[in-house]
Amino acid sequence: MEKIVKNLLTILILFFVWANAASLSDSINQNISLVNSANRDKTVKIFHDIKNLYIKAIMDDDKNAQIAAIRGLIKCSKILHIKYKHYENELSLLLKERHQKHKVVRKVSTPKKYTAPRVKAIAAYKDKIIIAFDKSIDKKDVAFFELNGKGRYRDIFDIRAKLFFKPKKLSIRNIQEIRISQFTKNSIRVVLQNKTPINSILSVERDRIIIKVDAPHYKTKKIKSYTKTYFAPKVSTSKIVIIDPGHGGKDTGAIGYKRLREKNAVLKIALKLGRYLKQYGYKVYYTRKSDKFIKLRDRTHYANLKKADLFISIHANAAPRRSQYLSSKGIETYYLSPARSARAKRVSAKENSADISSMDYFSKQVFLNFLNREKILASNKLAIDIQRGILKNVRKRYSVVDGGVRKAPFWVLVGAQMPAVLVETGYITNPTEATRLFNPYYENLLAKGIANGIVSYFEKNR
Ligand SMILES: [Zn+2]
Repeated sequence: MEKIVKNLLTILILFFVWANAASLSDSINQNISLVNSANRDKTVKIFHDIKNLYIKAIMDDDKNAQIAAIRGLIKCSKILHIKYKHYENELSLLLKERHQKHKVVRKVSTPKKYTAPRVKAIAAYKDKIIIAFDKSIDKKDVAFFELNGKGRYRDIFDIRAKLFFKPKKLSIRNIQEIRISQFTKNSIRVVLQNKTPINSILSVERDRIIIKVDAPHYKTKKIKSYTKTYFAPKVSTSKIVIIDPGHGGKDTGAIGYKRLREKNAVLKIALKLGRYLKQYGYKVYYTRKSDKFIKLRDRTHYANLKKADLFISIHANAAPRRSQYLSSKGIETYYLSPARSARAKRVSAKENSADISSMDYFSKQVFLNFLNREKILASNKLAIDIQRGILKNVRKRYSVVDGGVRKAPFWVLVGAQMPAVLVETGYITNPTEATRLFNPYYENLLAKGIANGIVSYFEKNR
C-alpha cells in the first residue's frame, strides 16, 4: 500500500514538474543538477525520477530529452556504483539515430506531386452519364475514341482521374452496356457498348463531365433506364495508416500447425490490407514489406516519424499448450492498456518477447501510468470498429470465433502517438485457422474486413 502511495506521489510530483517546466529536457537537467549535492538516498530517488522522465521522453518521442535522461542515468549509476554499460549502448544508439534523422530531413523536400482528380459520384439519368470530380477537370484531360467492328460498337472515354470505388451496373437509355473502371494508375475508362452505332456527346463543365447519348439512327430495343447515383465512399486522402506486419527475419513469431510461421502469414495479410486501404484513398506505409527483422521500438518510431493517423499491427495467435491446439481459436483485436487478465498477459508476453531491449529495466506498471487516456479511448474505439469489420466480412463465407476486443500491454504499441491496435488474426496452432491464414481468399476477406473497420472508424471520428 505504502508503495502505491509513494508511486502516486512520485507521479504527481513529476506531473507538477512537467506542467511547470519549459521542456522535458529542462526538468531532466534540473534533476541531474541536484545529484552533485545529494547523499546516497537522494541520488537513488533522483535516479528513479530520471528513469520515469526517460519513459515520458520515449512516449513523447522527444529524442533530446531521451539523451538528457540517459546521460543522467549514467551519471547516477556511476555515483551509485551500479552497472551502466547498457545505458551507454542506448546513448550511442540515440546519438546515431539523431544524426541520421538530421540527414534525412534535408532529403525530404521533394517537389509537389501531381494528383489526379478523384471521382466523387457517378450518376446515370435517362440518356446521360454524369461523373462528378473533387476538382475542375479540363477538356484535354478527356480522350475519346471509337472502337467498332464485328457487330460491336464502342465509344470509349479515357479521363485523367482516379476512381476509388466500384460503381454497380449502370444503365441509361439506348445503351446496352456501360463499364467504368480505373484503367491506368491515373486514368479511368468509360466504355459504352451497343450492337448498333452510338452517337454520344461529351461536355465538360468545371468539375463534372456529362456523356449524353442521342437517339440512334434506327430504333434499338427499348432498354429500361432509371436514375441511379453512386457516391464514392467519404474518405480523406490526407489520412495516413501505418501497417505493421508482426515479427520478421530472425524473429519468426509463433510456429504453428505444420510448422507454418506467423511472420509469413501476417506479412501477406498486411500487404493485402494496404492494397485495400490505398483503394479507399488512404496513404499507407509499412514497417516491413519483406521478411526483415525490425525492433519493436523502431516500428512505432517510424509511425511517429510519418505522423501517421493510425497504427495497425498484424499478428497471429498461438495456444500455449499442445493440448489446447484444437480448442484455441478465434480473432481478437487488442489495444494498449495495463494487463488485467491472465490471458492478456500471456498474449502480450508472447508478442513482446522478441525485443524489449530499451525498456526492460523499467517497471511496466509505472510506465503504463503515463499512457494518455484519450489515446487509449481512441484505440479502444478503433479496436471495436476493426473487430466488427473483420467479423462482418469474414463471416460472409466462414464461421469464426469472436475473441472480442481486449486490452493488453503490447510493447509494439507503446510510444505510438496515434491510436494503435494489434490484430490477432487467428490461431496459427489451430489446424483449421492455420490453413485459412495461408489461403489467399480468406486473407482477402480478413484484410478487407480490417480495411472496412478503419473506414468506419474514420467516418465516425473525423
Ligand atoms: Zn505476433
